[in-house]
Amino acid sequence: MDGKALAAKVREEVAQDVEELGGVGLATVLVGDDPASHIYIDLKHKAAQAAGMEARDLKLPGDITEEELLATIESLNDDDSIDGLLVQLPLPGHLDENRVIEAIAPGKDIDGIHPFNAGRLYLGRPTLVPGTPLGVMRMLAEYEIELAGARAVVVGRSAIVGKPMAHLLLQANATVSICHSRTIDLQRHTLDADVLVAAVGSTHVIGADMVKAGATVVDVGMNRGEGKRVYGDVDPSAAEVAGHITPVPGGVGPMTIAMVLKNSVTAARARRLGRGLVSPAT
Ligand code: NDP
Repeated sequence: MDGKALAAKVREEVAQDVEELGGVGLATVLVGDDPASHIYIDLKHKAAQAAGMEARDLKLPGDITEEELLATIESLNDDDSIDGLLVQLPLPGHLDENRVIEAIAPGKDIDGIHPFNAGRLYLGRPTLVPGTPLGVMRMLAEYEIELAGARAVVVGRSAIVGKPMAHLLLQANATVSICHSRTIDLQRHTLDADVLVAAVGSTHVIGADMVKAGATVVDVGMNRGEGKRVYGDVDPSAAEVAGHITPVPGGVGPMTIAMVLKNSVTAARARRLGRGLVSPAT
């Protein structure tokens, strides 16, 4: 499943939506000088600007106090020209990440990480959903993967990937299992999966012998190797067993940023309509 091509299509849709809405404002907040975070933020900015968005780039010093950061977020919450607000994680250790996340206005939370949005997802109600699992759902839809009644196994239970992924699959009427580091006999579970999503963070931990013949395999993993090489959680030999599979790189990765942009459009539209309700637009 070609995430690169699909992400380009999503970005075109976003550009059209931005034009229709007469502009969309995005603000990103980066604290400190973590090199990987800088790269992610720059990629998001380039993509946002290419889609015609107004993108404001706040780079704050690594020794900022929590109160100063919260005040900055508050002013962006109140700023009518900002539709989407994203705080790049992880934050430096002296800052309380949960407190900062909870300061973001839920209607502008385009990463879908505020407990209000996570709670709505849990309840199966329309909301802003993290870009990675949303991108996976869009990819599964694009390739017409049958989810209703399918057995879906998600390996990983993080708040940003595994848990929202499992809830979205459940909403799509799959029968969902969530596996994690304490799961006994992982292979027994994965072999049962019609749809297998790996969000583990460990290179090639899912081998071909763990994949059911004809299954759809989505590899969220982005594990750094030597130099600039990136490896997935799934061994590439699984492609010989799977019916559909996402490559790494070029699979889920490009979809994430595209879907964060899509979330900005969703948030902007909801605000223009004066609605608190936000429906994720896959
Ligand atoms: P986390 O480290 O937060 O979560 C990893 C999860 O995998 C945990 O739930 C952990 O279990 C589980 N796990 C770890 N080892 C095993 C194992 N051997 N067997 C079964 N489960 C295991 O990672 P993230 O969810 O943030 O990210 C996962 C991967 O996805 C990473 O490679 C990351 O780089 C990538 N990623 C890619 C994105 C993209 O855009 N493509 C976006 C976000 C992440 P436990 O809870 O018990 O510790």
